[in-house]
Amino acid sequence: DFGKPDYQAHAEEFEMLAKSAGAEVVATVVAKRDKPDAAHFIGSGKLEEAVLLAESSDVDIILFDQPLSPAQQRNIERAFKLRVVDRVALILDIFALRAKSHEGKLQVELAQLQHLMTRLTRMWTHLERQRGGIGMRGPGEAQLEMDKRMIGDKVKVLRERLSKVERQRTTQRRSRARGGVMSVSLVGYTNAGKSTLFNALTRAGAYAADQLFATLDTTTRRIWIEDAGQVVVSDTVGFIRDLPTTLIAAFKATLEETVQADLLLHVIDASSAQRDEQILEVNKVLEEIGAKDIPCILVYNKIDAAGYEPKIERNEEGRIVRVFVSALDRTGLDGLRGAIAEAKEKIGNNVANLKN
Ligand code: GDP
Repeated sequence: DFGKPDYQAHAEEFEMLAKSAGAEVVATVVAKRDKPDAAHFIGSGKLEEAVLLAESSDVDIILFDQPLSPAQQRNIERAFKLRVVDRVALILDIFALRAKSHEGKLQVELAQLQHLMTRLTRMWTHLERQRGGIGMRGPGEAQLEMDKRMIGDKVKVLRERLSKVERQRTTQRRSRARGGVMSVSLVGYTNAGKSTLFNALTRAGAYAADQLFATLDTTTRRIWIEDAGQVVVSDTVGFIRDLPTTLIAAFKATLEETVQADLLLHVIDASSAQRDEQILEVNKVLEEIGAKDIPCILVYNKIDAAGYEPKIERNEEGRIVRVFVSALDRTGLDGLRGAIAEAKEKIGNNVANLKN
């Protein structure tokens, strides 16, 4: 983990990620380096320490909190004599477990195949360079080419299916826009409490769990708010630090709902020590998906655990910028509904225009 301020917090977050994938964490090794090692990513001293620890604690699998090159992964596997899963593969795995909708499943499968394909290609060039192609020609090469072609075909089919689903969704969105209904998207760091807040606002039973990425697919529901009327609320996939860029691309369709929203509720775990870092991380992703100019209210959630009272904070122009709530205790929700109504009044007349 490089150039990052809080190794311990990141290690804890990674443990949560591992648990979300169904792993039981036996031991954690934190390595601090300025520059990754080409062969093993971590230094030989740390590697040795980790190997000894793994041998003494009956470990089945090694999870690595960094994207590894195929060569690094193989070298580390050799050192441990165990299967190694890097951060990208782990996150993909969790996404695969969580995807519920047809579209979500297609997106995950596409991202997994793309990840696999880059590995096949790189593995091939790596071996070719190392061994001058000897022993890699003939059936081995043909098999590899066939694998690549089969995956390529599958990727094409998935892309076509996805764009069909996306077209359908755009049509649905347009018809909603014509009705002049305001759309609100919940965004935020994973585990901030988006699903819980979504449930509290819509009184529905969306899945909430103390796991990362409990929400993978965008869930949308129509609610009625006094002084605001009909509002469409969407719960989105949780953002996370260093989300692999390949995943950001693959999940753009999911996040598209966010880009189209009239108002963002940026849900924050007010009780987290990493709160400010997480806010920055989410803002970074919002910028990447082209959503940074959408009006946004910061919702400081979990005030019951953070020791705040429900309240509303305005900026100098009188616009509401922060609302303090507890989605769990359902406190401060009237204030939040009022904030949504006020925001609708401000953007209200532009809703139809914004959509087109
Ligand atoms: P998401 O990943 O942002 O959708 O987060 P979830 O809604 O799944 O919530 C993550 C965890 O935080 C769950 O264990 C929730 O019960 C918990 N949580 C959510 N809201 C609150 C809150 O207001 N107070 C407290 N103490 N915990 C909360």
